Amino acid sequence: MDALTLPPPDRTSAAPTTGRPTREEAEAAIRTLIGWAGDDVGREGLLDTPARVVRAYEEFFGGYRLDPVEILNRTFDETEGYDEMVLLKDIRFESHCEHHMVPIIGRAHVAYLPRSRVVGISKLARVVDAYARRLQIQEKLTAQIAQAIDTALQPLGVAVVIEAQHQCMTTRGVHKPGVSMVTSRMLGAFRTDPVARQEFMLAIGGRAGAAAA
Ligand SMILES: [Zn+2]
Repeated sequence: MDALTLPPPDRTSAAPTTGRPTREEAEAAIRTLIGWAGDDVGREGLLDTPARVVRAYEEFFGGYRLDPVEILNRTFDETEGYDEMVLLKDIRFESHCEHHMVPIIGRAHVAYLPRSRVVGISKLARVVDAYARRLQIQEKLTAQIAQAIDTALQPLGVAVVIEAQHQCMTTRGVHKPGVSMVTSRMLGAFRTDPVARQEFMLAIGGRAGAAAA
């Protein structure tokens, strides 16, 4: 439906792709990683682990099977003249960084200024999840959420701010717990009109300094 909503096709290898690996292949890969970590894949406590991990991956990465623009496409055209900001804040999400495949846990604040179409507010949370449940970097996650809302609703403006902790920073590497990363994407009026942007920043609770566009 929309190139943005599909996982990018693999154009890096000339050989035809063999498609999605089977569940058995995925479980075998987990056994390899357990052995690489130094444990015995045959020990009793680990026997069912590959199957469990693969099931967990279906949950962690279920976003690839969702089309965020499609989620937003059922809109309510009757806004009754409502033309003020619609904001859903503190949407908790769990994602995984594409560099280390460890969790990114954070909150998204999503707002738009309706032109004529509004959407059920739970749909905004579902769009956040549809992109979060993929391998991500926070900057791309932020931009994709904003772009999907812009494409589907064609509003006067979209604002997305994400604050998140990256476990690749807290549990490995520099080991810096408590550090949050803040990213923002402003489109339309939120980009061009300082008053609109300030209203949004105040509404999400004074994160304006870190998230100024
Ligand atoms: Zn990472």
